[in-house]
Amino acid sequence: MGAGGPDDEENNRWPPWLKPLLKERFFVQCKMHADSHKSECNMYCLDCMNGALCSLCLNYHKDHRAIQIRRSSYHDVIRVNEIQKVLDISGVQTYIINSARVVFLNERPQPRPGKGVTNTCEVCERSLLDSFRFCSLGCKIVGTSTSFQKKNKFASMISDSEDSYSSSCSHGKLNNNIKVQSFTPSTPPPTSVNYRTAKRRKGIPHRAPMGGLVLQY
Ligand SMILES: [Zn+2]
Ligand SMILES: [Zn+2]
Ligand SMILES: [Zn+2]
Repeated sequence: MGAGGPDDEENNRWPPWLKPLLKERFFVQCKMHADSHKSECNMYCLDCMNGALCSLCLNYHKDHRAIQIRRSSYHDVIRVNEIQKVLDISGVQTYIINSARVVFLNERPQPRPGKGVTNTCEVCERSLLDSFRFCSLGCKIVGTSTSFQKKNKFASMISDSEDSYSSSCSHGKLNNNIKVQSFTPSTPPPTSVNYRTAKRRKGIPHRAPMGGLVLQY
């Protein structure tokens, strides 16, 4: 099966149970215990990875790490205090449902984007609160995969090569603009500007005091 190469690296990034868990269908009648009232399958064994389990099935997984799936308007969620013990959920938006903090397993199609939304899931573009990157565990798997990030990097290189270098430092950018204006009165062709910026970046420690001087005008 595992042919080696980049696929292996991709699969090792996550615990082996995660992808099977996200594909599983929960809240179905247990085939083994169809005659029981408590046979709705809402548990998953992280050690056996053998599908959705009902509370009777769970008797066979006593010392195993089992996790309970809950429902919020027909979508599967897991309580944060259960999943964060076994998985890094940073970047995934959490929600308070029935006074418990939960994360969604998979993305939920959003009929239309909310108005005035500034932050969206990097994968499915569902609107999110600021500071979160993904709407669900499923979107985090996709969004942090190397193939997805390569695609994103390529897109941002096309749209703005400058941003990928200095997006975190708008002051540095401002400095550059001021310097370009004050040192080159005649408008140079775009290629020479790029050359200058590239060169200047190498000499940042040397040039920094001058940048400060320019700012004091
Ligand atoms: Zn088990
Ligand atoms: Zn069962
Ligand atoms: Zn999403």
